[in-house]
Amino acid sequence: MTIRAFGAPHRYIQGPGALGQLGPMLAIHGRRAFVVADRIVAGLLKDRLTAATSEHLDSIAFGDFGGECTAAEIDRMTAAAAAAGADVIIGLGGGKAIDTAKGVRIARGGGLVIVPTIASNDSPTSRLAIVYTADHVLSEVRLMATNPDAVIVDTDIIVQAPVRFFVAGIGDALSKKFEAEQCYRTGGLNFYKARPPELALAIADRCYAIIREHGEAATSDVRAKATSDAVESVVEATILMSGLGFESGGLSLAHSLTRGFSAIPELSAALHGEQVAYGLLVQLVVEGRPAAFLSDFRSFYQRLGLPLKLADMGFSGDVAAALQTIAARTIAEAPYIRQIEVELDGMKLKAALERVEAGI
Ligand SMILES: [Zn+2]
Repeated sequence: MTIRAFGAPHRYIQGPGALGQLGPMLAIHGRRAFVVADRIVAGLLKDRLTAATSEHLDSIAFGDFGGECTAAEIDRMTAAAAAAGADVIIGLGGGKAIDTAKGVRIARGGGLVIVPTIASNDSPTSRLAIVYTADHVLSEVRLMATNPDAVIVDTDIIVQAPVRFFVAGIGDALSKKFEAEQCYRTGGLNFYKARPPELALAIADRCYAIIREHGEAATSDVRAKATSDAVESVVEATILMSGLGFESGGLSLAHSLTRGFSAIPELSAALHGEQVAYGLLVQLVVEGRPAAFLSDFRSFYQRLGLPLKLADMGFSGDVAAALQTIAARTIAEAPYIRQIEVELDGMKLKAALERVEAGI
């Protein structure tokens, strides 16, 4: 495979008050908007959204999103969008509302504008919609034909969310450099079923550098609900660069482990980015990184509040049994498990998980 491919949303707009750009952006794609947002998010932002778009639209309807991205919920939102005669969809909220909006776009076509209200993961810019069963088990990944038409990130909104979401977004973004490098070196494929271009690696590398330089300052600013240059740089890393980094750069072991974690019901309370952060520690152990490198990583995690052990992700059961299950399920099910230079089996992966749990 020698084809390289890179993809991105057609427009990315970020900053304090960026929501003001929503109306003109929607008007490029339609006159009747349908918003996929849950009741809480809609309650907080409905008036501002309506005011920001009234000059540019004939109508804006709000779907009462149920909170989980399931096939049934995508069907329900698609029917509501059809009833509203919508020609442009807005995904407003966290990853699940965003992914459901993508599902509606796949079903109905038309424009799609993503407005994340938290910076907790890499979903906003990508074509992927992760669909779950009603009991929160990953069931399928649906792909849009193209990336979202626009992603609008209003950092005045992002900093109002609990800091845990912001830190989880950092966890999801930190891994991209290491995963893209493994994908590149092993001849792996990105999410366009092509080889990662050099640009994707450069993005993932810069994403990591920004987080290491500004991550702590940005996190304390978000804790104080303040925007700042550090917050802007880190949000660009955790939403734009993290999304482009994985979709065009490809994934490896850190994200593969989320398949294994999903087999442990207690870990379902952990956010995706928290799981990826832990998964990255495992990947770095598997890669054979020196002890000083690992301990520097751990102390960075500690300063931010990222998980170092399963217990930090809410697990209180039999750790040895859980590690066995996580390792076996990851090896059996994860689609990118071969995109790492080390030949892995369940035993080797379990040994790496044990080292992470032991803090060595
Ligand atoms: Zn991710």
